[in-house]
Amino acid sequence: MGVRTRMAPSPTGEYHIGSMRTMLYNYALAKKEGGQFILRIEDTDRERFVEGATERLMDVINAYGLNWDEGPRVGGPHAPYIQSERLETYKEYANQLVESGHAYYCFCSKERLDTLREEQRKAGMPSTKYDKYCLNLPKDKVKENLDAGLSYVIRLNVQADQEISFDDKVLGHITFPSKDVDDQVLLKSDGFPTYHLGVVVDDHLMEVNWVMRGVEWLPSTPKHILLYKAFGWELPTYAHLPLLKEKGDTKKLSKRMGSVAAHEFLLDGYLPEALINFLMFLGWNPGTEKEIYSLDEFVKDFSVERIQKTDLVVFDRDKLAWYNGQYIRMLSAQDLWERLKKWMSEYDQQPEYKMEDTYSIKVQSLVQDRMRVFADFLPLTNYFYIDFDCPVELLVAQSGSESRAKEILETFYNLLKELSVENWHSKFLDELCHRIISEKGYKPKESFMTLRVASTGQTATPPIFDIIELLGQEKTLSRIENAKNLLK
Ligand code: GLU
Repeated sequence: MGVRTRMAPSPTGEYHIGSMRTMLYNYALAKKEGGQFILRIEDTDRERFVEGATERLMDVINAYGLNWDEGPRVGGPHAPYIQSERLETYKEYANQLVESGHAYYCFCSKERLDTLREEQRKAGMPSTKYDKYCLNLPKDKVKENLDAGLSYVIRLNVQADQEISFDDKVLGHITFPSKDVDDQVLLKSDGFPTYHLGVVVDDHLMEVNWVMRGVEWLPSTPKHILLYKAFGWELPTYAHLPLLKEKGDTKKLSKRMGSVAAHEFLLDGYLPEALINFLMFLGWNPGTEKEIYSLDEFVKDFSVERIQKTDLVVFDRDKLAWYNGQYIRMLSAQDLWERLKKWMSEYDQQPEYKMEDTYSIKVQSLVQDRMRVFADFLPLTNYFYIDFDCPVELLVAQSGSESRAKEILETFYNLLKELSVENWHSKFLDELCHRIISEKGYKPKESFMTLRVASTGQTATPPIFDIIELLGQEKTLSRIENAKNLLK
């Protein structure tokens, strides 16, 4: 059997960008080895279940350009791939462990467990543990309780004297003493399995032989290994991946620093291929200078041996913006415009003004190099589409005095109004305006910045003659005139 990897998200909220990185690595390993990548939904925690989250997480995975060989929506030989549809299976396997003595019924009330925990805490125990009270119930008492319909859970019977060890493909050899492992609940009183039982039973039944997941799951691994052993099943290969953190001290990605959920980055206007490229490097690198990777190239070059052995890797938001800028620049004008329009309509970002295609593609060509995300487009270009209140102070500041600004604008106005339409293109405008300012003795900076503020309302824009070429003669003259009239 070839490599079978999986991602097993729990629909408890919006899909995290870090999970997308973990998914990408699982996807790449399966594809590289000619194996299968499986998606399984672990929705057994009914308290944390969020309505609609399953559908949304599948949509966002697809929107990032990834897909799965087996799982919900596509099916597969081990269907269903949603745990809440497999409850009978877990019950069966939990019972099997009870029969073999690896698990037992526990009827303890919440009150008893709370008291126990409290006592252990007071006694200074580093972590609290179940005291195996129900393990010692006589068989007929258990039967009596079950017949009486008493609420119960099934617990794993952990032997205290074992060493649990395994070779993690990233972290190396790891050993846990079993005395630190609690008699984990496997089946809850509501008939749902816990994560531990569900994940082990399903990974086994779905023939998953590689478990690659965030290092936050490492403490669960000894529990899983005990379960594999109790069932007599072969262990998968484990690889625990570093988690993501913000630059600086914070230990986690933070909403204060920007988006955190995978779909939010799409809404911000990042391209999926740029996001995926950025995610590739969060815990892995090829050992070369190459930074731009398509998904296919990544699949070819990916290797578990090159995964970083640290707990945390920096999620560098500036680097992400850099990647996105690179991908925006790589698109043809037509493609970029189509994608920009799609983004605006999908994420409800359309402006109130109309954007005609041919004109907008020209506008776009002036800002393509400056855009880091799609969301930059509108603030960078709105003066091409709508008039604005000219900021007088800014206008005056360019030459230092109101009368000077007025004089400069008058000069340009008189010059430009005489031009014929055929000559209204940036090269000609550029030469002509340079000629007049040298005749008049104006400095280039004061003149063109004044013209820029009058035409755009801003100081940082693409080249001014490219702008006024696109604005056209009529609009340019009316803006200069308007600005001029604001000055004494
Ligand atoms: N359901 C777990 C999650 O929410 C799966 C963890 C694992 O990969 O074992 O991520």
